[in-house]
Amino acid sequence: MRVLQGIAVSPGVAIAKAMVVDDQQPRVTRRFISRANVESELQRLSKAMELVAEQIQDSQDEVATELGEEYGAIFSAHLQMVRDEKLNESLVDSIRYRHYTAEYAVSQSFARYIQFFERVPNPFLRERAGDFRDIEQRLLNVLFGADSKRKLAANQPSIVIAHDLTPSEMANLDRGNIRGIVTEVGGPGSHSAIVAEALELPAVVGVGPHLREIQTDTVLIIDGHQGRIIVQPDEETIARYEQEVEQQKQTAIRLSGLRDLPAVTIDGETITLMANIEFPHEADACLERGASGVGLYRTEFLYLGQDHEPTEEDHYQVYAKVVHDMQGSPIVIRTLDLGADKINGDVQTPESNPFLGLRSIRLSLRNTDQFRRQLRAILRASVLGDVRVMFPLVSTLHELRQAKMLLSDLMEDLEEEGIAFDRNLKVGIMVEVPASVVMLDRFAREIDFISIGTNDLVQYTLAVDRNNPDVAALYNSCDPAVLRLIQMAVDSATKAGIEVTLCGQMGGNPVYTMLLIGMGLRSLSVTPSAIPEIKQICRTVSAEKCRELAVRVRDMDNAWEIKRLLREHLRQLFPDES
Ligand code: PEP
Ligand code: MG
Repeated sequence: MRVLQGIAVSPGVAIAKAMVVDDQQPRVTRRFISRANVESELQRLSKAMELVAEQIQDSQDEVATELGEEYGAIFSAHLQMVRDEKLNESLVDSIRYRHYTAEYAVSQSFARYIQFFERVPNPFLRERAGDFRDIEQRLLNVLFGADSKRKLAANQPSIVIAHDLTPSEMANLDRGNIRGIVTEVGGPGSHSAIVAEALELPAVVGVGPHLREIQTDTVLIIDGHQGRIIVQPDEETIARYEQEVEQQKQTAIRLSGLRDLPAVTIDGETITLMANIEFPHEADACLERGASGVGLYRTEFLYLGQDHEPTEEDHYQVYAKVVHDMQGSPIVIRTLDLGADKINGDVQTPESNPFLGLRSIRLSLRNTDQFRRQLRAILRASVLGDVRVMFPLVSTLHELRQAKMLLSDLMEDLEEEGIAFDRNLKVGIMVEVPASVVMLDRFAREIDFISIGTNDLVQYTLAVDRNNPDVAALYNSCDPAVLRLIQMAVDSATKAGIEVTLCGQMGGNPVYTMLLIGMGLRSLSVTPSAIPEIKQICRTVSAEKCRELAVRVRDMDNAWEIKRLLREHLRQLFPDES
């Protein structure tokens, strides 16, 4: 039994077998085909082999022309390998008799050849391993090319082990059998972590380079509370965690009783608890958990993992569905927040500093056709219910004004076309860079609401990458500088009489609930699964006591001490649960 420590980003515990996803190559997971599909899979393989042979021939011709015949001859050996009868037989047998997919057959057969050549003592022969790797890569590229949006799927309950997973891979994850996510890289605020929470999957990121030692099918426990991975646990550990899984279920059942009760403190302050969603189907989870609405709909997930640009109608259909499913409660639609780590392959060229680059509202204002399509769809959906629009990462008033100008142009267009929309559509901004906090008194004159995005606010205040495990210890939501900015934002918004919500991950962490209430927040938007626990806290505390706590915290200057104090208060609130 071995224990690996990473960063806990999505709570929960799961016990399942590892599914290792190699990051250096296209994703090859162990998948099978049905008997009926054997012939078509064999054809797919044979076409891929032909194509790779053609590619190698082309490489040979090119290199021979550029460098001379003797260099081109290297590829003759590759051609011979692709046409090698034994290799072909092994691939065909794996598909015909074991029902492997062509990709899995390739990865299995080539692994045997590569391992064999890696071990031979003759250095000349050992080099053949590299040649086989090269051909394997070509074959997988061709096979995946035909279906590059393949889902990460498992045919048994599995914990995905990967170097990294992009948000789009996460978005396309098969939710049937995948029970947890573990990655070598990634930090506390990474979007993959956010998606894992949305999918209610325990996740641990930033484990470091140890994952290479884990083989597919090794039994693992993922502890998403403590950020631990237990490799090949002994019986006693499995029994202990099975008990914890059972307790989780019992707590969830108990908390589900709060669903229809209001989040009111014992001294009568109402806290509005809304939900953050990434996918339209999450409306069900919102209702199940008793959300008062959707406080943040991250619409960029409509783009990630898609092979075509969504049309205005695509946007409209999903918004209409969410509005309908949420049965009249407010829906805050955030316009595209693409860029940085939420990169859609087609959208941009690589930047050296993407988090400070062309992302979010900046990208939308540059790519106005795309932005117009989305805004038109939001306007059309605005007559279906209580729809609001929110712009992400606004850092200057100029950006807000440009976005609002576009919105009012589109209103005129729709009016001319006789298409209904809500002229009083509420407009807000995400407050997630220090500049917008500092300028909030000015912003407030031109908007109806703000939502404090602490995930980015922490990153931009402390100059610490939310995805980087090496600086994860600095990424601290209760750093006094961050708390001062949150307080400034709440005070400015309250003074200006506009609504203020906090929608970063901090809002869904029970450790911060009392502090946030004490700082004056009356609206939180959190991942749906966090609502019951946060509601339980709201219903147990008094706002007055929370204010006292916030005053005490205001005098403190050390993030660790602040966190310790907050944890202590939470423990005192629920002594039986600690
Ligand atoms: C935030 O930055 O806090 C936020 C809610 O937005 P995202 O996590 O999508 O960047
Ligand atoms: Mg953000």
